[in-house]
Amino acid sequence: MADVAMGEAETFAFQAEINQLLSLIINTFYSNKEIFLRELISNASDALDKIRFESLTDKSKLDAQPELFIRLVPDKVNKTLSIIDSGVGMTKADLVNNLGTIARSGTKEFMEALQAGADVSMIGQFGVGFYSAYLVAEKVIVTTKHNDDEQYIWESQAGGSFTITRDVNGEQLGRGTKITLFLKEDQMEYLEERRLKDLVKKHSEFISYPIYLWTEKTTEKEVSDDEDDEPKKEEEGDVEEVDEEKETKSKKKKVKEVSHEWQLINKQKPIWLRKPEEITKEEYASFYKSLTNDWEEHLAVKHFSVEGQLEFKAILFVPKRAPFDLFDTRKKMNNIKLYVRRVFIMDNCEELIPEYLGFVKGVVDSDDLPLNISREMLQQNKILKVIRKNLVKKCIEMFNEIAENKEDYNKFYEAFSKNLKLGIHEDSQNRAKLAELLRYYSTKSGDELTSLKDYVTRMKEGQKDIYYITGESKKAVENSPFLERLKKKGYEVLFMVDAIDEYAVGQLKEYDGKKLVSATKEGLKLEDETEEEKKKKEEKKKSFESLCKTIKDILGDKVEKVVVSERIVDSPCCLVTGEYGWTANMERIMKAQALRDSSMGSYMSSKKTMEINPDNPIMEELRKRAEVDKNDKSVKDLVLLLFETALLTSGFSLDDPNTFGARIHRMLKLGLSIDEDEAGGDDTEMPPLEEEGNEESKMEEVD
Ligand code: ADP
Repeated sequence: MADVAMGEAETFAFQAEINQLLSLIINTFYSNKEIFLRELISNASDALDKIRFESLTDKSKLDAQPELFIRLVPDKVNKTLSIIDSGVGMTKADLVNNLGTIARSGTKEFMEALQAGADVSMIGQFGVGFYSAYLVAEKVIVTTKHNDDEQYIWESQAGGSFTITRDVNGEQLGRGTKITLFLKEDQMEYLEERRLKDLVKKHSEFISYPIYLWTEKTTEKEVSDDEDDEPKKEEEGDVEEVDEEKETKSKKKKVKEVSHEWQLINKQKPIWLRKPEEITKEEYASFYKSLTNDWEEHLAVKHFSVEGQLEFKAILFVPKRAPFDLFDTRKKMNNIKLYVRRVFIMDNCEELIPEYLGFVKGVVDSDDLPLNISREMLQQNKILKVIRKNLVKKCIEMFNEIAENKEDYNKFYEAFSKNLKLGIHEDSQNRAKLAELLRYYSTKSGDELTSLKDYVTRMKEGQKDIYYITGESKKAVENSPFLERLKKKGYEVLFMVDAIDEYAVGQLKEYDGKKLVSATKEGLKLEDETEEEKKKKEEKKKSFESLCKTIKDILGDKVEKVVVSERIVDSPCCLVTGEYGWTANMERIMKAQALRDSSMGSYMSSKKTMEINPDNPIMEELRKRAEVDKNDKSVKDLVLLLFETALLTSGFSLDDPNTFGARIHRMLKLGLSIDEDEAGGDDTEMPPLEEEGNEESKMEEVD
């Protein structure tokens, strides 16, 4: 028990998810418990960053405790390990909110990750690192003092609740936080100096505040016999050893003497100040891990300095995976820490790097920015703009370096291709460079992704444009009727099957001087091989003109117009969209965004053009029948059926699948020679065919 006189204890219940998390941490076996120390030291370091930042504009904030440090105190007698920092501390409200009543968004995600087999060492990434204390402790006491409040004690053995007590008579911290872990019986290893030193070296080497360990030293002394046999007991807090050996001639005896001292156990020279040639891959990895709480190494690193009119040093990292909340818009942030002349200024400074590069992690240390820079000042700061430009340039360089290794690049692309595409959409200055990094499957790429550059090398003689098709998945587009003609001509078509591709390609428009052309939009023109073929085609077109008109009459507003197609070879028809309107895929994406303003849909939604294939036998038959009698009921039925089928094969959805189903059933009956009347009862259940009768008579009238 903490030997403190207390105010009255208030009891609070843990928020439900936090409570669940605690039981999971306590009751599940994890071998990797040691990470608790890294988490608590990292929290201490964050708290120190905060007070140091505050003190830049108001020196008096440090008055209560001018020194910035982290101290580790193992206590073998009480079986406790304490982590003490002179950071910003917590007010009573902070304690209540941060340590138990308000769950972070990561709480649930972390539990799900754990249950899916993730390692407990991921905890820091989810913003719930504090609770890892319960991996090794059965009880935790947090004593804390914030400049704006009194000293308080938080205490909990998990089990659903915690208490908060005003700390009136306890040892006063001045400012900061002391976390005391009452270690579980089988976790006594965390009282061993060796173990603690190794852990700090392994996980917390790059913490930029001194970490001191309270160490014990035993020395043998010769004392004269007449002195007290008992070795001197050291009081906690006494650094200096008081030993005055009396030079007496009397008999001497050897006794053990125990002394304590604070031992510095981390180097704090920032790694970014060192020369890149002298830093090993392991050192970068360990710095990356301490910076990000990642449990895996980085995928790529770029360490550089910019000199001249403006000077700064930076290390940038690309992680191996995307974080769980990469595109969580509630959390607008990036992962670059800003330092000014070695002093930490702030996390996620928005002006430092564009949003689409938010997954890049690292540090920037500027020599030119003023130390007392505020967030408001950052917005118009010119130095920052130059830094930002350089960071983007270096990021793209780094991505290109990753691309030199196929396996790495696949990993990178899987995790961050959405970011690159967002970049293409937003960053017009770097659009061309980012385009080099794009990869797609295509009609010719097989199982591998292809770059636009490689596409261009494979372009056919006479091929002017780069063709692509957008859709929901590779499977949905690879056999699309839109590709028939292009395939036959040997033109490669890129599959753009990411929702964001629609936006990106809309901005990109061209690559290497070649237009990017959608296979599903109007105006796809393919040159003909010979004059003769051209002529033949014109004739065919003419002969189908009247069928086009008939179809348009039958479909009415469902389509904008009906034309003879140049792009399909096998299918009877397809539906294309206007060059500037939405594609079928975009319509699908927009429909899926449930909260969108629905009025937008009506004018942006695709104006469809039906393209018919004059070489298809169904069309030929239809043409003949319509010539005989364009009000033939079977013609009308067939046209509607063809339209609905084309909606599906062209990537749209059916507004009324029941009518479509009924029409198919009717066709089936025809095929099976079942008489409509014989089928008994079915008729009445079947939805009426497309406004039968009514429209027909209307059409008759018109004619
Ligand atoms: P994270 O550190 O990722 O935000 P934690 O669960 O580790 O999540 O900590 C929750 C919060 O508790 C922190 O955001 C911080 O506000 C507060 N906190 C934890 N440890 C300390 C500390 N040593 N000093 C001051 N505040 C702390």
